[in-house]
Amino acid sequence: MSQSLHDINVLREQIATYGKSLFDRGLTMGSSGNISQRLDDGGWLMTPTNACLGRLDPARISRLDAQGVLIDGDAPTKEHFLHRAMYDERPQSGAIVHLHSTHSVAVSCLPDVNPCECIPPLTAYYVMRVGKLPLVPYYMPGDPALGDAVRGLAGKHCAVLLANHGPVVAGKTLEAAVYATEELEETAKLFLLLQGKNPRGMTPGQVAELEARFGRP
Ligand SMILES: [Zn+2]
Repeated sequence: MSQSLHDINVLREQIATYGKSLFDRGLTMGSSGNISQRLDDGGWLMTPTNACLGRLDPARISRLDAQGVLIDGDAPTKEHFLHRAMYDERPQSGAIVHLHSTHSVAVSCLPDVNPCECIPPLTAYYVMRVGKLPLVPYYMPGDPALGDAVRGLAGKHCAVLLANHGPVVAGKTLEAAVYATEELEETAKLFLLLQGKNPRGMTPGQVAELEARFGRP
C-alpha cells in the first residue's frame, strides 16, 4: 500500500529537519548536498536543485514518480542520477544522503588512498554503519558515466566516496542514512588526524566478528 499524503508530508518535514541539522553543524555548505527518500509507490522525495539544506521548504521538496518524472514541488537536484543509481542496486535502502563534507572530501583527494577501502576500519561503529568504502573515480559533475560507476559498486556497498567530490550514503531509513553519513565524516576526520602516526586499526578478526554478529551495513 502507498503512503498517505499525510505520511508523505511527515517525510518532507523529516528531510527538512535533517537537512537543517546537517547544515547547522557544517556538514554541508551553500547549496551543496542532497537528500532523498524512497516512497512506497516506487517514487521518491528529493531535495530541489540549488536548494540550501539549511533552509528547505518541505512543500517545495521534489516528488518524483517511479519513472523519475516530477509530479510535485521544485525541480530535483541535478545529482538525482547518483541517488537513482544507488536505489536501483539497493532495494533494501529507503533513503540516501550525499554531501560535500570537508573531511570525507579531503580523504577522497589523498594520493595513496586505497580505492577498495578509502578509510581503514578504525572503530567498531564505522565498521557497523559504513563498512568498506570504495572510491569512485573523478567525473565532471553531471556526467552520466558517474552514475554508471556508482551503480557498479552500490550493490555491495551502502556508501561510496566520489573522488574530489564527496560521499553518497544509503540507509534503510533517512535516520540511518544520516547517522552513517555522520559516522563516515567523523571517521574521515580521525583518519586525517592519524596520518603519519601508524595507527593501530581494528584487526581483520575483530572486523569479521562484528560482521558475523551484526551483518554488513
Ligand atoms: Zn555532489
